[in-house]
Amino acid sequence: MSKVFCPMVYHSIYVRRTAYGSHSLSPCTLADQSTPTSDKIDFINDKHLIDIRKEFSSGGRPTACRSCWDDETHGRTSARQQHIDRDIIPSDESLILTNIDYNTLPLCNAKCVICDSTFSSMWATANGESSRIIDLVKNKYDHLDGLELSSIKRVYFNGGEPLLTNEHVELLQRVNNISELDILYNTNGSCYPSEQALNLWKQAKSVTLFFSIDGTGDRFEETRTPLKWKQVSENIKKINLIKNIRIGCTYTIGRHNVYDLQDTVDWFEKLPNFDLEEFYVHYVDTNHSLSFNNASDTEKLEFANELSKFSKFTKWHQRILSSIED
Ligand code: SF4
Repeated sequence: MSKVFCPMVYHSIYVRRTAYGSHSLSPCTLADQSTPTSDKIDFINDKHLIDIRKEFSSGGRPTACRSCWDDETHGRTSARQQHIDRDIIPSDESLILTNIDYNTLPLCNAKCVICDSTFSSMWATANGESSRIIDLVKNKYDHLDGLELSSIKRVYFNGGEPLLTNEHVELLQRVNNISELDILYNTNGSCYPSEQALNLWKQAKSVTLFFSIDGTGDRFEETRTPLKWKQVSENIKKINLIKNIRIGCTYTIGRHNVYDLQDTVDWFEKLPNFDLEEFYVHYVDTNHSLSFNNASDTEKLEFANELSKFSKFTKWHQRILSSIED
């Protein structure tokens, strides 16, 4: 097997706060995280990151990156391959940090069916687990302390709901050369960006908001309780008219919403400034009860039949079909 390369392991970090003063980290949101620690982050010398890099350098396929190997084994385009194709992250091994996958505090105003208390304070409250989140928020600490941010060229915010608090603005204010920065968000669409954010975004190289929408109207509200479609759809329409902001849709598909995909595609297609190339579909985590893994053979056939309508979406169509067949 030939040697593989991933730009993320040499240029990117994802830090997740696990409790007050401690965090775990990995090169990207998909790779396995390190054991939680309260040590200051050292991008170059961190043992978990070094182990992953060493394995790549010696021609191996680190088990921490199983998500990508799994996709590639099944003929799907992995995140690793997408990063190489997009060519935004440098393709060398210089260990200059240029990308941050930034995990905001797990504060969220929704209890989405596909999410859990790790990422949503609303789920944590519902499950009687809010003390961990209260502790994190009350004792907010600089989990990026120790990272050299002067060469950052791309920040990808996820959460929690990243636009619910000012945390994303605080990070953007710390980054030099915002004019060279590509900024991306995964947002549930319920929070219209603040004036401060809009002003910062005007200075950036590019801004892309990916809206997590898995159905429209009542179907949206059933999957993303207690968000309201009227408010979310109005926000998206308004943001779609802002010149320097590109929007996308990230639809998370599972047993519950295969038949809502067409309506959602149609809704986005009607927006005046929307490129269907920016409509992405991801599948629900395979351990989740709504995953295709838990569908019967008959359901799987019906789902595959419905999804055959979407063959023009070459970026994800095959990937989703093969996730049904697995
Ligand atoms: S999980 Fe994939 S994208 Fe992430 S570091 Fe590993 S190979 Fe790269």
